[in-house]
Amino acid sequence: VYCGSRSGDLPDYTTVAHHLGTELARAGFSLVYGGSEVGLMGIVANAALQNGAEVIGVIPKRFSAEIVHEALTELYLVDTMHQRKQQMIENSDGIIALPGGSGTFEELMEALTWKRLTLYRNPIVLLNTRGYFEAFQAMMVQASNERFMHSEHLRMWTTVSRPSELIPTLIQTDDWDSERLDLVVQ
Ligand code: AMP
Repeated sequence: VYCGSRSGDLPDYTTVAHHLGTELARAGFSLVYGGSEVGLMGIVANAALQNGAEVIGVIPKRFSAEIVHEALTELYLVDTMHQRKQQMIENSDGIIALPGGSGTFEELMEALTWKRLTLYRNPIVLLNTRGYFEAFQAMMVQASNERFMHSEHLRMWTTVSRPSELIPTLIQTDDWDSERLDLVVQ
């Protein structure tokens, strides 16, 4: 799960983060996330832990911008932000992005770029609470309309509006097909 190290200023964001952590646990998933105690990250992790999920955090050593969560099932201290992203993605069966800031967008964009190159094949689902990802969606559609991406690449992620849709969508989405590597922009 990628999400904000802040909570945003609207209660809907904290509500959906709590909901997601709870649903992940109830569905029997482990949570892999950035290992922080703060923001939506901490809320998802605590909800997952409270409901019995295994929670795995990956955070850079000596990382002062965020407070490490001390009560996780497993905590990996890595050297760099790049190692963090690498370890998170390698240990994931799918990616969920909730609202967040530049770090969330950066992680999401890297995952989509890897998927476009078929280096990552698993589902990517965005939670569009209060239309948070509308501008992102519009930017990607523009890239496709103006032939920087194939329209097929717009299928690399799925956007849902309610947290209850996240896990069913994750499960129902097919793995990315290697043949798509051959897609050319027309
Ligand atoms: P944000 O959405 O900006 O609150 O950040 C969400 C998470 O992404 C936080 O744990 C950030 O530390 C992390 N993050 C920010 N930039 C990067 C990056 N370049 N590589 C890996 N993680 C990052």
